[in-house]
Order: sequence, then structure tokens, then C-alpha cells
Amino acid sequence: MKAAVLRSLVPVLSLEEMPRPELIPGHILLRVLACGVCRTDLHIFEHDLPALRDPLIAGHQIVGEVIDGATEELPLGSRAGVSWIGGIDGTCPFCRRGEENLCDALTFTGYSVDGGYAEYALVRSDFAFPLPAEVEPKYLAPLLCAGIIGFRSLRVAETQPGDRVGLFGFGASASLTIEVLKHWGCEIYVSTRGEQHRTQARELGALWVGSEEEKPPVALDRAVTFAPAGAVVVAALSSLRKGGVVAINAIHLDQIPAFNYDRLLWGERQIRSVANMTRQDARDFLALAHEIGIRPRVRTFPLDQANEALQAVKQETAEGPVVILP
Ligand SMILES: [Zn+2]
Ligand SMILES: [Zn+2]
Repeated sequence: MKAAVLRSLVPVLSLEEMPRPELIPGHILLRVLACGVCRTDLHIFEHDLPALRDPLIAGHQIVGEVIDGATEELPLGSRAGVSWIGGIDGTCPFCRRGEENLCDALTFTGYSVDGGYAEYALVRSDFAFPLPAEVEPKYLAPLLCAGIIGFRSLRVAETQPGDRVGLFGFGASASLTIEVLKHWGCEIYVSTRGEQHRTQARELGALWVGSEEEKPPVALDRAVTFAPAGAVVVAALSSLRKGGVVAINAIHLDQIPAFNYDRLLWGERQIRSVANMTRQDARDFLALAHEIGIRPRVRTFPLDQANEALQAVKQETAEGPVVILP
């Protein structure tokens, strides 16, 4: 099969012929129909995250057709989606508490195991989710990480229908999260750099849009930060009402600047990180996305332009999520 492969000491992905994965118990083999490109892929590519596998096929927003290892839920020929969490041990204290997103022995799709920048992908069947066959795969791929983790961020922030919610940074994940907020009747305030992102946020229904220096005109009930910059966390915190929550949707963040406790955190304001996702988050979000009919404005690249796809994420030249079509 063809795959875009990351090798240590090679600064670009190389398109290579690789052996097609062999089916092993507990897994399904997918023919990849689309694979979303996530900012995390860029962190892996640029070694902000330590290498766990070499060579590596990255990509953790996989939409595929089941071609082997079918299960009752995922019959042959059906559509399946795979996200960032590719497996858990099921036995550690976190798994036993039902906090599988915090498992001590997580498997990461496209990071600790091979992912979807390829023609085929082997994935654990209990971490693959059925997807509707009538929706084009390119629209489904970004839901699988950007969408699910954005949704989990709203849960971590304890978002209630009608809340005033701030989104700090406006990339792929925020552009999907905003659809859920609209569905819940929330007031949406977006603070982001780049006129293009501000225009998009307005078009997608934000009530107020400002630059990263501007403060939303009201005190927020909830805030989600998407930008990988610690200063944004403080900006979000300073926009909260008493008892409000900031959820940090970022796997990698630079230093959070010192801030004034009395003024910004006191009053039971909270800062919480968002780590990974549970299968319940995935199933709940995918059902909701189907109900809402979310169709993100994707930009697609063929597999042999995987490097260009990564650069489009890095330079934020795409209006919405970036997707590779093998
Ligand atoms: Zn991701
Ligand atoms: Zn575990």
C-alpha cells in the first residue's frame, strides 16, 4: 500500500510502498477513504511530542470501509471512524473508574500505532465507530478528533444550553464546536488572531468577534481555549464570571504567564485541561453531528501531498479542517 511515512532525521513525510497490515484478533482492517490532519500531527511532525514509533504513519481522524475483521456493529463494507485514542488497557485505576481518557497505557492512533495517512489502516474494533454511509467521507474525518475533542471541551467546561461561551482561537476544532453551541442556543464570543478566522467566526454565527487583544463585552460562563499559547488561557480566565470554567483544548502549550489570583481565579473560577476523549464522547458527538448535519468547509489534499496538507495546517491557510484523500 502507499503511505506517507514519517522517519526520524527526515524532515518531510515520504510517500512509500509499505506492506498492507495483516489482520490480528480484536482488530478490523479499513480501506482508508479520508483522513483528517490535526494540529497534533504537526506537533508529532515537528517533535514537540517525543517520537514513539519510527517509522510512523501518522493520522488519527480516519474514515474507512471495513474490508476485514467485521463485527456485528461494523459489518463488511460498512463505514467506520477512528480517532486519537486507539485503545486502552481496561485494567488500570483510571479505566476502572470509568476515566478511560486518562488510562495509564493509552494507545494513540497515528502516534504509538500507525494511523491513516495510507491506503489501509488496522485499528482496534472496539475503538472504531460506525459512521453514516450517505455522508461524504471528507466531511466526517474532521469530526473524529477536532470535533470530538471540541465537544469534550464543552463538557469539561460544564457548558449548559443558553450559556455565554467564549472560544479563544478559531481553527478546525473551534469551527466544529461552534455548531454544537449554536444547536444548544448558546451565545458565542470568539477572540482570535487573523482577519480570516474572525470573518469565518462571524459567518458561522458568533455573536461577538474580536482580536486576541480585545475582551468579550460580557462576562462569560464558559471559555474554551484552542490556541497553543499560555497567554490565551489568562485572557480567557480574565473574561469569566465568578464560578466560570476555562477548558484548555490543547495537547501542547507554552508557559502560562503569571496572573493575579485575587482578581482572576478567586470566586471559584476554574482552569481545567482536556485530555483525550472517551468512547462515550465520540458516540455522543457523532450522533449529535449527524442530527445537526455538520458539514465543515474542508480543504482536501491527495496522499502524495501530505506535506502540503501539514503546511496548510501550520500556516492556517485553510478556512476549515484539512483532509487527506488517499
Ligand atoms: Zn487530533
Ligand atoms: Zn487503563
